[in-house]
Amino acid sequence: MQELTLNRCDRCGESAKVFLPYGPHRFCAQHFNSFFESRVQSTIRQGKLIKYGEKIAIGVSGGKDSMATLHLLHNFYGKTKQNKIEAIMIDEGIKGYRDRALQIGAKYCEENGIDCHVVKYRDELGVDMNEVMKKIHEDPALGSTCSFCGVFRRDFLNDKALEIKADKLATGHNLDDEVQSIAMSLFGSDFARASRLGATTGERKFEKMVPRIKPLYETPEKDIIAYTAMNGIEHYSEECCPYSWMAKRNHYRKMLNELEDSVPGTKYSILASFRKMKPLLANFEKENGKALGECSRCGSPANGQLCGTCRQMDRLIEISGNKKSGPSKSLKKGSPLTCAQTKGTA
Ligand code: SF4
Ligand SMILES: [Zn+2]
Ligand SMILES: [Zn+2]
Repeated sequence: MQELTLNRCDRCGESAKVFLPYGPHRFCAQHFNSFFESRVQSTIRQGKLIKYGEKIAIGVSGGKDSMATLHLLHNFYGKTKQNKIEAIMIDEGIKGYRDRALQIGAKYCEENGIDCHVVKYRDELGVDMNEVMKKIHEDPALGSTCSFCGVFRRDFLNDKALEIKADKLATGHNLDDEVQSIAMSLFGSDFARASRLGATTGERKFEKMVPRIKPLYETPEKDIIAYTAMNGIEHYSEECCPYSWMAKRNHYRKMLNELEDSVPGTKYSILASFRKMKPLLANFEKENGKALGECSRCGSPANGQLCGTCRQMDRLIEISGNKKSGPSKSLKKGSPLTCAQTKGTA
């Protein structure tokens, strides 16, 4: 008798299809969907992430998180024409991985009448991530592929969002990503980075920085997997990026998943603690943070003289100079560079 009760939906008493240990909650398909969607709507409402009439650009990778974000925002806002929704897809040039994922994103946009913009690293920088990886093999001191790829992606998403005059840039960051970022920032004593975390980032007001929003930041990754499966939202899930093994984030993901398995609700507790702490961090940022300015080379938002992309490109060109080969000089972010020039500005 008790077993029967345990397998029933909390809301309607029908057979439960989803069990969420952090509640704990048990839901049938219909009530899981309404629970899931209401939570995203609540995140948007509480954080005032989207205002009436705003144009929202969505960073779409073709993976489950960004496809769920695209699907939800299209259904909540795009269909009603209350807000204009457009997709921005970044092609890092990772063969057999991103090319297939982007096809899925492009197909969804085409079927749903959503404008879609593709930015390729190769077109913008003259190199793609496969070539960056070769450079890292030549000189491991350059760091991980992700430390290049993440900076390029952030900058190009912002540049394109600015170009299409988007009011906000939405990403698919979920609860797991957010909690990993909190742990990485605090364990790494990076309070400036921690102060910028939250449902809205890029909070420092600067006209060339499109405010970023994370509608899924209170939604656990496992719930997104269930939601995309139950609603037939196509996404790329076959393989991880071949370079993802280099990411420091993997260690944090593993640690936090183990904690969550042992003590369900831990990720929500970390998020709640961080929210209480955040006002203190805002003071820290005010006193110690650098004001955003323009990159002296390409004009993008920058913390110092150069933006992240120009700084990272200089590092690649420097090693190329040493090896007498390297990335093309078709760097569009700024004026074409030579090794001699970059050594002076790095
Ligand atoms: S795992 Fe790293 S290299 Fe691969 S797409 Fe993500 S940021 Fe880029
Ligand atoms: Zn139900
Ligand atoms: Zn720059």
